[in-house]
This record gives sequence, structure tokens and C-alpha cells, in this order.
Amino acid sequence: MSSQLLKAAKKLTKKGFLVGIDGNLSFRLQKNKTQDFLTLTPSGVEKAKLKKTDLIEFQQPVNTSDYPASASSETPMHLAVYQNCPQAQVVIHAHPPQVVAWSLVHLDQDFLPINYLSELILATGPVPHVPFELPGSQTLAQRISTYLPKHQCLILARHGVLVWGKSFEEALRGIDRLDYTCGVYLQAESTGRKLEPLNSIQMKELQKIRNKIGQQIL
Ligand SMILES: [Zn+2]
Repeated sequence: MSSQLLKAAKKLTKKGFLVGIDGNLSFRLQKNKTQDFLTLTPSGVEKAKLKKTDLIEFQQPVNTSDYPASASSETPMHLAVYQNCPQAQVVIHAHPPQVVAWSLVHLDQDFLPINYLSELILATGPVPHVPFELPGSQTLAQRISTYLPKHQCLILARHGVLVWGKSFEEALRGIDRLDYTCGVYLQAESTGRKLEPLNSIQMKELQKIRNKIGQQIL
């Protein structure tokens, strides 16, 4: 899993989703029946340059303020996911520029609109736009918890994304989907033309398919 984390960090950096020391990645491993161990990226380093020995492993704590000081400053968000989502094996937080741009011009929206692109409905389901809280704060972790375990893809206002999954591939697909969707929306809006949503029959059909797919990111 450590090598998959390092690979994912390189991919995200190459795409421009992790600038400077931005972002953080983690995974959970169950070493025996009662103990879950988390591995997180350290704070203050470029994620693409990490080595396996730089990663920080610790036993999953009971509360979100109890973690090694060298771990990412945004660890409370990761802990909130692992505590609320038993299926989560992987968490990624990144700053995809098109998502952050979309957030800045739509601060009043509670969700990324889902009724324009069928792929978004099928691939992720509804995506909440989480109101801004200071990065790394317990308040941000608490706010995120209110959307869990229902949502795997979250947009953090003025900030970036938080995506969890059963594998790094799944979480990366979610981040790509959000960046693609926000990019398309921004371009379409920039034309000044009125955007037509899918009609209610199409929405119902797509929702049925999504329900059959179940909770996962395609
Ligand atoms: Zn961040």
C-alpha cells in the first residue's frame, strides 16, 4: 500500500493537483482483528518526493485530536473519514485548480450541480460543497463528519477536495471526475448561455442506475 500511496502522490503532482507542500494521502490497514493502523503523509514536504520511510504509521486513535505531531496538519479530516466510514481504506486530500475555481464562484451552492452531466450522477452521486473552515482545524473535521459515510467525494469551499475509497485508484478516479466536471461547468458558464439541465425522467432513470451501482466511485 505504501508504494501505491507514493505512486498516487506522483500522479496528483503531475496533474497539478498538489502544488508545493499541498495535499495529504493516507491508508488504513487492519493488522489483526481489533487494531487498525493508519499510514499518513508527513506535514511540510512535497508529496511527490516522499520515500516509504517518510510515511507515518500509527494506531487508529479514538479521537481526531490524538495523532503524531509529524503527521499531516490535515490529519483530523482523515481520522474523521476512518471513524465514520468503515469501508474507507484510503483518503486523499488535494487542491485540483478547476474545483477550487468552481468553488470560489459558487460559494452559495451546497452541492455541485448534478443535473447536467449523466457521468457525474453515475460515477459519484451527489457531491457536497462543504462550507469553509480553517485547514487542519477540528471544526473542519467535525463539519466533514456530517456528510459521512454517505458521500465519498467532497468539495471543500475555497480549498480543494476530500475523497475516500477502497483503493487509491478509486479515490483518484473521484478527484479526476471532480476536476473534469468543474472544468466543464466553468467553461460552459463562461459562454454566458443558459445551461439546460437533464429532464426529470432522465434524472430518475440515471438515479435508478446509480442506485444499482451502489456506493463506489466509477
Ligand atoms: Zn489542503
